[in-house]
Amino acid sequence: MELPTPPLLHTHSAMKSTSSILLIKLFILQCSLSLLCVAVAQQDFDFFYFVQQWPGSYCDTKASCCYPTTGKPATDFGIHGLWPNYKDGSYPSNCDPDSHFNRSQVSDLISRMQRSWPTLACPRGDGSLFWSHEWEKHGTCSESVLDQHHYFKTALNLKETLGLLPILQSAGINPDGGSYSLSRIRGAIKDALGFTPWIECNVDASGNSQLYQVYVCIDNQGSNTIECPVLPTGSKCASTVQFPSF
Ligand code: 5GP
Ligand code: 5GP
Repeated sequence: MELPTPPLLHTHSAMKSTSSILLIKLFILQCSLSLLCVAVAQQDFDFFYFVQQWPGSYCDTKASCCYPTTGKPATDFGIHGLWPNYKDGSYPSNCDPDSHFNRSQVSDLISRMQRSWPTLACPRGDGSLFWSHEWEKHGTCSESVLDQHHYFKTALNLKETLGLLPILQSAGINPDGGSYSLSRIRGAIKDALGFTPWIECNVDASGNSQLYQVYVCIDNQGSNTIECPVLPTGSKCASTVQFPSF
């Protein structure tokens, strides 16, 4: 036979369960808030890698290259990208699927982009695919700091300010197919910029290690060169590397 619950006990357990529900609700609210905070924090980033590529080293590989529809690029480093990064070495990507590269937002920069950010991938193109990829994968992750126009302009200005090729040439390091010690290349850039760059190599069709990309770190406003908080993971170089002509 079931015994009737004493009234006092009933009230007490009802109060207990109400407060437990409240506690659970509070807990859920707190969790959602902190998840939101994590999600918001994930959108942020600590610094940029500004990456430039040597066209001669992109083109003399087994895979070869295609010149853009606008013609053979200048004998100069070209921009690969401006990549937001975290100090732990990880990085955000494709942060806003609704934000697409929009030529009309950068119409005043297109001729500079064709000159300084040429595409070398095949099939040949006018650059739009490369710029779209870079904007969508990387640019959308720094949109809170640099809108699309600002993002491309910042990269173009950085390329001009840093002037990698003149820096190397003044140090007697020329794109002449010769071999140079990696520490000499790194040292020349460090002496000129005040910060150590990361050098990434690839291999030419005969398997020689060659200077392919140079990474310089930039603060999270896109304004100043900084010491890299963490080194990139791009392919390491041999101690002596070739600097192919283009
Ligand atoms: P890879 O695997 O050829 O080194 O890199 C492929 C692509 O991944 C790069 O072109 C770039 O878009 C991205 N990536 C590779 N390493 C990094 C990195 O350290 N930071 C950022 N932000 N992107 C990277
Ligand atoms: P990432 O390596 O930056 O993630 O991807 C680069 C993408 O842009 C690849 O899909 C690649 O085919 C394309 N791309 C177009 N032009 C170039 C170029 O000149 N250099 C490099 N590295 N990638 C290019």
